[in-house]
Formats: sequence, structure tokens, C-alpha cells
Amino acid sequence: MALCTRLQSFPSSSSSSSNHIRPTKASNFHPICSLHYNSHSPFTEKHSIERYQRDQWLYKTQLENIENMASCSSPPPDSNSVRQNEIALQLPELKKLLQVLREKREREGCGGWKKCGPGNVFLVGTGPGDPELLTLKAVRVIQSADLLLYDRLVSNDVLDLVGPNARLLYVGKTAGYHSRTQEEIHELLLSFAEAGATVVRLKGGDPLVFGRGGEEMDFLQQQGIHVKVIPGITAASGIAAELGIPLTHRGVANSVRFLTGHSRKGGTDPLFVAENAADPDSTLVIYMGLSTFPSLALKLMHHGLPPNTPAVAVERGTTPQQRMVFAELKDLANKITTVELVSPTLMIIGNVVALSPLWSLSMNEASCMVQAK
Ligand code: SAH
Repeated sequence: MALCTRLQSFPSSSSSSSNHIRPTKASNFHPICSLHYNSHSPFTEKHSIERYQRDQWLYKTQLENIENMASCSSPPPDSNSVRQNEIALQLPELKKLLQVLREKREREGCGGWKKCGPGNVFLVGTGPGDPELLTLKAVRVIQSADLLLYDRLVSNDVLDLVGPNARLLYVGKTAGYHSRTQEEIHELLLSFAEAGATVVRLKGGDPLVFGRGGEEMDFLQQQGIHVKVIPGITAASGIAAELGIPLTHRGVANSVRFLTGHSRKGGTDPLFVAENAADPDSTLVIYMGLSTFPSLALKLMHHGLPPNTPAVAVERGTTPQQRMVFAELKDLANKITTVELVSPTLMIIGNVVALSPLWSLSMNEASCMVQAK
């Protein structure tokens, strides 16, 4: 079985609340083939107690009580009721925080924001998970923020860098659970910017690659708020580097294409691009494609991509919990199902995948427990 897990060589970072970048160098990890599965997520889970504790909202104990009550009785609460509770409990605190910021502005002689100008809004990419992949600019802005709104794919290690006086607000979305609507996120960004705060919108990877960063920027700019974008390492680049896959390579792939497996209308058919994308000279990287991958793979083969094209699926890439499965295109969907990869997972398809030193190892069942580097 060609499943590889990157194992941690030092104690779990999630229990620490240090504000320093911890030594999470890729070289500290050894990708080995193994069925070992570390279920602890490097990302924020939708009902994570760790998140409530870290974000330090006053309501956190109330929410814990709700969760405890829910876990003692059956049936469990539906995600909607948890969301309603969470937002209802957070709102008074958000309003109070806004009030404090407005009063501070008044004291500083800024009656309305038009006099002193709005605060700064930064749209910051946090990379695929490893905090060492942040840019220096991102770290500086994260440490100077008053309020940070973050998504599910911003890793806990990155959030540990936030300054002690900043407030963190989870606005993540997963299928079937949106902690906040896009409109609420827009309003929050606007209200806090108008109150003069330094507001940071954190997004996994690069904010302008499948990140809806453009929509938030658009909205704020229409309201006269200038948004600064700080790019992040997109999952494709971070994961390709981790695995030693050159996304383009002279004589092997002369272009690379980032695809979404998710249809904008919420349907299951992202496959309208498959005909153009079935190009053996190009590398394909599929974001948000776990559920639609079986049909996408079939369609790519139908349109001429050879069934033996090398491919890999990587779950929670660049984090200590990274898992990956290599296979030829025709077999990858089945292997993903067998090893039960979960979101976030990225797929890379193309002849460049075979250039990874892990490719030949993974094709050899006998090497499964051999350390790769
Ligand atoms: N803006 C992000 C992409 C957000 S879309 C970026 O530039 O990377 C979310 C999708 O990105 C996930 O469904 C998954 O396909 C991919 N992804 C993001 N981080 C990932 C990670 N650490 N490991 C694997 N896939 C990841």
C-alpha cells in the first residue's frame, strides 16, 4: 500500500501557546510509508474546544457548557443550532470591542473615520499549514493586528503567532457548516476597519487562489476601504515542494493548471474543463476535488489522458499530519477511498509526479516501512 505519512519528530505543537515560530522545518520530518494515522488535526475543526480556548472569547465557557450538555444527551445538536449559539454568544462581545475601539478614536480626536481615515485591512495568505512557509510580511502583520478573522485551513501553528492582545474570530466554512455568511464577514471587516482597527483576514494558502479573497477585496474597496493583499504559498506549491515534484519541468510539463473540483452552483460536475485539461504535457492540480475526483479521473481518461499517468493525493500537506497516496491515474480514486483521505486533500496529476523521489518508493509495496530520507 503506497500510503505515506509524515511523522512528527518532536512533541505536538498544538498544546503549546508560544508566540514564537517553532522549529517545524520540513527537514525535521521524515516521510515514510506507513498506515499510521494521526487523527489530531493541524487545522481548526468546526466545534473545536481548542479554538474556543485560544480565541479567548468570554462566551467560551457558555459554549463549552452547551457542548457538554449536548455530549451527555442524545441526539447531538445539529450544526445549525451550534452555529446560532456561537454567533449569538459572540455578537455582544464583538459589539463591545467595536465600542471600545470607537471610544478610543473619539479620545484621539477622530470623530468619524473620514477625519483620520479607516484602519488597515490586510488579506493575508498563510500557506498550506507549515508556519515556516509564511512570508515575513505576513508574520509582521499577524503580530500587529487588533482583530483577525480566520478560515478553517489556517493552521493552529500559524494562529499561535498572533499577539496577546489581538482578538481572533473563526469565520470558517466546511461543507454544510458556515460559521458566518459571506455577508456577515463583509460587514465585520467593514465595521472594524471604520473603527480604525488593524483588521487581518487570514486565508489558507494564497488568498487569491480559490480563496474568495477577490470578493472581500471588491466589497471593501467599494466602501472606500483600501485592502492590502499579502500573498501566501498556495497548496500546490507548498505540497509540490514537500514531495519533490517540479510542477513544470523542461521536456516533461510545459504548463501547470489549477482546477477546482467544486462546482460553483453546488452541483457535482466540475468536469466541463476536463476536455481541455486532458493534456499529457501539462500538470494538473485539483483543489477541493475529493468528492468529484472519481468522475473527473474517468473524464480525463476519456478525453485522452493516459490511464497510467502518475498521480498523487495529499491530505493535510506540509503539516506533521500529512498523508499521501501515489498511484497511476486509473487507480488513484480507489486508493483514496481505501485509505480514507479527508479534506483538505490536493491531487497532482502529470508525468512530473514520477520525478518525486517518493514515486518509485511508493510503487514498491515492499518498501512500505522504509524511511525515504
Ligand atoms: N487558497 C488556498 C486554497 C483554498 S481551497 C490555497 O491557495 O492553497 C481549499 C482546498 O485547497 C482544499 O480543499 C484542498 O484541495 C487544498 N488545500 C489547501 N491546503 C491544503 C493542505 N494543507 N493539504 C492538502 N490540500 C490543501
